[in-house]
Amino acid sequence: MKYSEEYRDQHLVRQLIRRLHTVKTGPATIMEVCGTHTMSVARFGLKMLLPDGINLISGPGCPVCVTDQHDLDGYLALGMQPGVVLATFGDMVRVPGSHTSLDQRRAVGTDVRVIYSPFDAVEIARLEPDKQIIFFGVGFETTMPATALAILTAAEANLENFTVYCVHKTMPAALQALLSRGETQISGLLLPGHVSAVTGSAVFDFIPATFRLPCAVTGFEPLDILLGVESILSQLRRGRPHVANVYQRAVSRPANPKAQAVIQEVFLASDSYWRGLGLIPGSGISLQPRFRHFDAKYRFARILAAVPPPLPTPCHCGEVLRGFLRPLQCPLFGDSCTPSHPIGPCMVSSEGACAAAYRFG
Ligand code: SF4
Repeated sequence: MKYSEEYRDQHLVRQLIRRLHTVKTGPATIMEVCGTHTMSVARFGLKMLLPDGINLISGPGCPVCVTDQHDLDGYLALGMQPGVVLATFGDMVRVPGSHTSLDQRRAVGTDVRVIYSPFDAVEIARLEPDKQIIFFGVGFETTMPATALAILTAAEANLENFTVYCVHKTMPAALQALLSRGETQISGLLLPGHVSAVTGSAVFDFIPATFRLPCAVTGFEPLDILLGVESILSQLRRGRPHVANVYQRAVSRPANPKAQAVIQEVFLASDSYWRGLGLIPGSGISLQPRFRHFDAKYRFARILAAVPPPLPTPCHCGEVLRGFLRPLQCPLFGDSCTPSHPIGPCMVSSEGACAAAYRFG
């Protein structure tokens, strides 16, 4: 496949690994911010190829994993209303809420439909006007433009029965919060390629400027990730941290103007709760006042106000998402928490660190 196979070239990977072993730095802990990086690192066994003392840890970049339990409880509560269809991406279906999951609710009659795009939800709304379709808007900047376009499409069609339960989150705000707390020892960050394709790489300049940490925006194939690691080690050796872009085939320094325009037309910044990180001011989005009619949190505010606070969970995903804990260090890993019986979202999501560790070791 063009633009992916050539980035898995074994000969080039070996060459790059040899080069990495010649970059002299001390021990370094590099956070792979994005869940897709975590999955690629595990799938291709990249940790084993790195020089001694160079460690990769997971970060808060799995959108399913950072979705707050209370948000999921609220979405489940809306599904209990007559005539409601919950339209969601498949990754969310088995994530446990306080009492149940979408999967379990579906087994007892809630209308939960797995979709591949927010436009599928708009189409269901068009075809089934007697139903109320609520799309679960989960994801970082990468998926926001599609949600925004779906809302514009629904507005143009005057659909009365389509809303978005918006829990989209913004990555720079989460990294700012994580790094400001200073809880996790990090030497550098592999920044998410697909988020950066929307935001541009410049949005992360605050990391080297404020925290003196080297960064590399990378893609998701082995060569992409290893080039990112090499860049971070070189920056550490020279003592000159900056945001390198080793994913230039998809990312430029400025933001993608079309994606940003549609995001700004439909959304505005708001505070958001993150699993494991708590409330982060300005790290979420809500709908602009003129699109409020499509905002499930606004339309169904009375039902949502009655949702009790989330129950405490034995899950350690919060520590995994902050880089405190490796999946195998969680006392529940592989014992009471497995992919067929997940206790936390990190074991469910296709980008979850625990799922990656369970599947690839
Ligand atoms: Fe959460 Fe399960 Fe991972 Fe532990 S093993 S952190 S409970 S998903």
